[in-house]
Amino acid sequence: VTPARGKTSTRRRKMMGFAHLPTSSLFVLLLLFIPSSAFLVTPAGSFVPHGRISTPHSRRLPRAEAAALQRRSHLRMSEDTIDCLVVGGGVSGLTTGLLTAGSVLVADKSASPGGVFETRDDIEGYLFEDGPNTFQPTESTLSLVSQVGLAPDVVCTDRSLARYVYSGGDLYALPSPGGPPDLSGLVNLLSPLGMARVVVGAILPVAAPVKSDETVTDFFTRTLGSDILKLVVDPFISTVYCGDPSKMSMRSVFPAIAKAGDAGNGFGGLVKGFVASRKAAKETKATPFPESGIKVKKGSSASLKGGLKKLPEAIAGALGNKYQPSWEATKVSHSAETSLFTTEFSTPQGPKTVTSKCVVLAVPPVAAAGLVGGLSQEASEALEGIKAPAVHAVSLAYPKTAFDEEVACVEEGGGVKGFGVLVPRGEEIGTLGFQFINSMFPERAPRDESLLLAYYGGAQNPEAASLTAAEVSERVHGDALRMLLKKDAPEPRVLSVRTWPAGIPQYNVGHAAAIKASREALPPGLVLGGSMTGGVSIGDCILSARACAEEVKQVL
Ligand SMILES: Cc1cc2nc3c(=O)[nH]c(=O)nc-3n(C[C@H](O)[C@H](O)[C@H](O)COP(=O)(O)OP(=O)(O)OC[C@H]3O[C@@H](n4cnc5c(N)ncnc54)[C@H](O)[C@@H]3O)c2cc1C
Repeated sequence: VTPARGKTSTRRRKMMGFAHLPTSSLFVLLLLFIPSSAFLVTPAGSFVPHGRISTPHSRRLPRAEAAALQRRSHLRMSEDTIDCLVVGGGVSGLTTGLLTAGSVLVADKSASPGGVFETRDDIEGYLFEDGPNTFQPTESTLSLVSQVGLAPDVVCTDRSLARYVYSGGDLYALPSPGGPPDLSGLVNLLSPLGMARVVVGAILPVAAPVKSDETVTDFFTRTLGSDILKLVVDPFISTVYCGDPSKMSMRSVFPAIAKAGDAGNGFGGLVKGFVASRKAAKETKATPFPESGIKVKKGSSASLKGGLKKLPEAIAGALGNKYQPSWEATKVSHSAETSLFTTEFSTPQGPKTVTSKCVVLAVPPVAAAGLVGGLSQEASEALEGIKAPAVHAVSLAYPKTAFDEEVACVEEGGGVKGFGVLVPRGEEIGTLGFQFINSMFPERAPRDESLLLAYYGGAQNPEAASLTAAEVSERVHGDALRMLLKKDAPEPRVLSVRTWPAGIPQYNVGHAAAIKASREALPPGLVLGGSMTGGVSIGDCILSARACAEEVKQVL
């Protein structure tokens, strides 16, 4: 790898020179708006979207229809008929099973629970995640964690750790949710015109969008300007969703900011709209989850001692024999006469069928599309249209001495400190971002090493899907050399290159309409859940699971 280095010698000086800018009234205004927005409150390196992604509410059955369904379903109910079958044992399906009363079975095609949760502790001295890495310690997630006995295992990051954006060879710190209100990194990152555009755009009345379901690019271009779009929003979308802002739906990805835009058509613009929509959200807050009793500092991110896989394992443990691994659903059919569903499975013991009053599909969109094919062609096609691009998760370790001390996130004596760094597209860096794993969780790598987690690929780089593991790790190392390492840094110890062929479902424009159309086209009792419905973060999946359990309750 021959790295083209940026202006490393000036990096640290540049950052420090602006560290104590006075807080002018403009910054105060920005502070009002920006830290509350989805993309800056969220720890950039933590991969956790802040807001719950909005999709239409689950379809509710009118009471009379539900009662009739219940009566009919008793007609031919054999002893083997269960109330609810959940297909998919990722965090969504398992949580749905846990929250659903009555006779429930959660069946998954894999031998172990958790779907994309993959903690690795098989290399001595390291603990790392090939799948999700942190969760936002919201009330609902902590409640679930506590319910399955994992409260003592919760570990939180230091909330003042900096999140960086890489631009033009330098690193810029974004305002951190737990730290002092320091906007100097953001001010340096944006051009003076770009900064002025953000400030003016935040207070001027917001013009109505051309289309209600507009792209993230269209929203930011017409409100806060293209600088913040390119340098902050794009890297956030590319890393968190592996997505493309010119395709993703603003309403689905940043619902709070989109609502602020709706309410910000008068004087005060987005800032006023944001205050109004927050107030409205507080008033319509859903029933709270049981108190977890776990104390966490606002703005930190969380994991579990021993890794995140413990969460699905503990939920599966709590489900006991209601969780069935190694069963792959192949077909769901429905009887109009009895209103019962029959689901066929391929299992190590041969074919099986399960008859149930409800079926919850908590599987990736392509799997759901296949399963509902016999029930509704329309739903199947709509679900088939939800794409999930490939992404590679690369865990690699360097000696701390390999890092260039001139780089803003590198500590004196070596090693990186912070949450991580996001890379805007167009920087000639293929890596979407690096997370600094043992800066967040120090015990996860030897003391004299820095453990990095990099993402490569996604919707804006579809060609990356066909790269080999060796090619991916070589490119990621090349990017680390350009951004973080000394010229003569040694090759990393590559712990893992995990390729996710269909990583994260894309909430592109039209997504909400596709989910709504699918729900309407499917028979009552067939419930769509999982990360394709109510948001991709772990917290969103848990909230969606609760919505699914409530829908099932209504049918039963
Ligand atoms: C690489 C990566 C990193 C991420 N990092 C974070 C993070 O740090 N923080 C965060 O909050 N979120 C993160 N996410 C997002 C989050 O982890 C996922 O959105 C969430 O875990 C999805 O859960 P799920 O249960 O909906 O789906 P999945 O985990 O995909 O589970 C679906 C399950 O369905 C099963 N299945 C599929 N077809 C069938 C069938 N026919 N029959 C039976 N079973 C079937 C599968 O085996 C699987 O277990 C990350 C996602 C990825 C891919």
